[in-house]
Amino acid sequence: MPLSQTAPAASADAARSRLHITPQTILSRSPRTGAIIGEVEVATPLQIREAVGLARLAQPAWEGIGLRRRLTFLRSLRDALYRGQNRILDMLVAEQGKVRQEATLEYLACLELVDYTLRTAPRVLRQRDVRVRLLPHRRFTIERYPYGVVLVIAPWNYPLWLSLDPIVTGLAAGNTILYKPSEYASQLGEIVASLVAEADIPREVFHILHGYGDVGQALIAAHPDYIVFTGSAATGRKVAHAAAEQVIPVTLELGGKDAAIVLADADVEEVAEGIVWSGMFNAGQTCASVERVIVLRPVAERLIAAMKQAVMRYISNGDGTPSPMLAALTTPQQMEIVQQQVQEALAAGVRAIIGGRRLDGDGRFYAPTILVDVTPEMRIWQEETFGPVVAVMVADTEEEAIHLANASDYGLTASLWTRDPRRAEHLARQLKVGSVSINEHLLISGVPEMPWGGVKGSGYGRTHGEQGLQEMTCIRTLNSDRWALPLEPFRYPYTAFKRSLARRATHFLYGPTLIDRLRSLR
Ligand code: NDP
Repeated sequence: MPLSQTAPAASADAARSRLHITPQTILSRSPRTGAIIGEVEVATPLQIREAVGLARLAQPAWEGIGLRRRLTFLRSLRDALYRGQNRILDMLVAEQGKVRQEATLEYLACLELVDYTLRTAPRVLRQRDVRVRLLPHRRFTIERYPYGVVLVIAPWNYPLWLSLDPIVTGLAAGNTILYKPSEYASQLGEIVASLVAEADIPREVFHILHGYGDVGQALIAAHPDYIVFTGSAATGRKVAHAAAEQVIPVTLELGGKDAAIVLADADVEEVAEGIVWSGMFNAGQTCASVERVIVLRPVAERLIAAMKQAVMRYISNGDGTPSPMLAALTTPQQMEIVQQQVQEALAAGVRAIIGGRRLDGDGRFYAPTILVDVTPEMRIWQEETFGPVVAVMVADTEEEAIHLANASDYGLTASLWTRDPRRAEHLARQLKVGSVSINEHLLISGVPEMPWGGVKGSGYGRTHGEQGLQEMTCIRTLNSDRWALPLEPFRYPYTAFKRSLARRATHFLYGPTLIDRLRSLR
């Protein structure tokens, strides 16, 4: 329901939240202009119960039509996505405040993900025979079957990508879907729902349920069979807790405080451009953004100067107004977090060599910021900032750099910047994260072929890649007849012959030396 009038200040929202009243609708406002973009209704408890019931009822039929037919629907979804390019990009710019070119990358990643799923699902989800050495007369098979009803709880920062990813893989695997978009991406969520509808996927198979955190909680309480949660570490913990109480498996894609490590042989100019892009893309509102830079002392001064130059060249107008290449901060809370963290750091003696404040004007923009003289115990070094802010520390040795990078509650991604690929690979193996990139940082998060996810506080489980598809399924092993043995060696009666057989097999299979193995003949 596009409205398009200009909103007054968000005072009504503030008053509601002070009174702890959950509103019945969600208004989307542009972070660029404050204009109201649309409104949706919050799902009622009855609607939630109905959706869960319908999803559960519809699931066996959706599974039953088989993978090939499900992929035909998903091919139509890809075509709908292709046709919808303009309205999707318009919405990502309007509702999330993205730069159009950055929105285009998110959109392309989605097309590639659907295509990847179409190409690989038949191979990845097919059943597999396993040879069991001790039981050659039995046939063993690993089958994958859908969990049933999958709940997708999505964030606002890449609302198309982080919604379509679990929806598409979940549907391909034969699950039905309950989908709760972020309250800051409700209009984009409506677009996702319209793509599913355009693909003629039966209505009972996919349900969008708008709402705030309490709707997410109610959906978990309705006992879905699997949950894919992407969002903050704080909410992720609550989700994991609620899921654990009902023993519901969960994939948790949480935040990061990702480090870029710059070695002493790095090509400083090139590295500065790469790091600035990886830290400032989408105004830093990327789980895998570079938020920490750890640079070896010999190149530290030059790198910091080159990073400042790169910011000035591309994303700073220099007059306090936002550059057209800088995205807005999507939510008011995010602006508060960024402002608080930076102010606290500045008060503690950190220097902003560029940026360090909110930009002028009505839009919710924060100046691209590079902070130096940071120390490891500071909040700006420890907590996810999720804004266009990069903090820099200098290390004297590579070991110290690796130690600093690993000394974090998070473990999503990291990068190493050097001209020595062998050294980089050696150091990469010491980083406790889900992905390491060399002379690059951000692109891995959008590659559907590569399993994606973190360790430690960044969550568990994987999306993307073969693992991402497989995680939408449970495993059922099948053990059936291959041929009949003249005698069942494991069953009653336990005879001397069977004991001797077990003894001989033990020598033959596990004897460490030839002499041990020959004892099987005795
Ligand atoms: P939040 O954790 O605030 O919200 C995520 C989703 O959970 C929203 O739909 C939210 O609804 C919902 N929610 C809130 N409370 C509950 C609850 N108690 N139970 C169930 N659901 C609830 O995250 P953001 O939307 O702010 O997203 C940004 C975060 O996501 C960052 O930390 C970022 O690092 C992380 N992220 C991780 C990625 C990864 O792959 N590892 C990728 C992208 C982002 P509502 O919006 O209405 O509050």
